Amino acid sequence: MKDDCIFCKLANHVFDTNIIYEDDDFTVILDVNPATKGHALILPKEHYADIYEIPEELLGKAAALAKKLVTALAKKLGADGYNIVQNNGETAGQTVFHFHMHLIPRYKDDGQRIGWEPGKPSAEELSELAGELKDLF
Ligand code: 5GP
Ligand code: ZN
Repeated sequence: MKDDCIFCKLANHVFDTNIIYEDDDFTVILDVNPATKGHALILPKEHYADIYEIPEELLGKAAALAKKLVTALAKKLGADGYNIVQNNGETAGQTVFHFHMHLIPRYKDDGQRIGWEPGKPSAEELSELAGELKDLF
């Protein structure tokens, strides 16, 4: 646990919160300022700041858990869709620096939007970029 981390404290019962699921690795809570009704956060119990720090195996478990939870929650909440959002870095909108996945149920006409302005690169620009990137891995 990291002393000054709110999500460490919520995930490990130091502070009270609204928990909807828990296992050995994760605590899942309701977001205090939900985008929509049922907006939940998957929190690992151990502290990892972001996707760069979290071990691959635990990240895989988080993804599998997200699938299990949204499958059940969508039915229960009557959601028409789901956004799974995971921000890394201040520029990307991360405000709490303990890895988390947002599970955001979407309802027809909920008035929320999670999106971006689509760019319009040329075919050449895209192809050049792909050429530069594909040798990274
Ligand atoms: P981020 O912007 O880092 O991806 O998301 C942080 C999320 O944590 C926000 O949606 C915010 O509402 C939620 N949050 C921040 N502090 C608390 C808290 O003390 N309790 C709960 N339940 N959610 C929190
Ligand atoms: Zn933490």
